[in-house]
Amino acid sequence: MRVLVVEDEDKMRAALQRGLRAAGYAVDGVTDGEAGLARAVAGDYDALVLDIVLPGMDGFDVCRALRRAEVWTPVLLLTALGDVEDRITGLDAGADDYLTKPFAFEELLSRLRALIRRGRPPRPTALSCGPLTLDPATRVVTWAGATIDLSSREFALLEYLMHHAGEVVQRATIRRHVWGAQADEESSNIIDAYVKNLRDKIDRRFDVDVIETVRGVGYRLRHQTAE
Ligand code: CA
Repeated sequence: MRVLVVEDEDKMRAALQRGLRAAGYAVDGVTDGEAGLARAVAGDYDALVLDIVLPGMDGFDVCRALRRAEVWTPVLLLTALGDVEDRITGLDAGADDYLTKPFAFEELLSRLRALIRRGRPPRPTALSCGPLTLDPATRVVTWAGATIDLSSREFALLEYLMHHAGEVVQRATIRRHVWGAQADEESSNIIDAYVKNLRDKIDRRFDVDVIETVRGVGYRLRHQTAE
């Protein structure tokens, strides 16, 4: 099994390479994100061990770029920062697992074995509703082929609405599924603000009426045709 280690700290990279070799892996190591991306795209690796904090292109960017290039090699992200936001960003970027430094080497080996055993994850199915498409794998959203740039939360909201295209989705349901349990009643306004953003980026821009307000209830994504 071939593993690529992307880590700028020499001591850490050397320790990882030594340990992985001892565990029977064929290992290559690189020190920055650009080199890591190039190697990962060109080489046939069974897994990547990718540090988040790198000079230049960071681990999140490498991961996103890999998935956009349709490379589905399992990625184990390493970070010294262990907070929830980082974890979410990593998983959103297309990483498969996450390990917080400092870690026991045995733990890394066991995570890596699990990732390799699972194999390349099946590519998530792209969603479409008329000319509107959303690809959860590459995080690309288009209307009739034109790319729409969305923030992570706008993307999550649109993804949820697209999963339920044609149905009226209640505001409380949206809040629960897109914002999670921590969202309270007051965050109602937040939903409106995000729906407005989506309307600016889709309805206004393409002169369509995709996101319908159902008064007193919630929203419905409507099937539209391109002009
Ligand atoms: Ca680093």
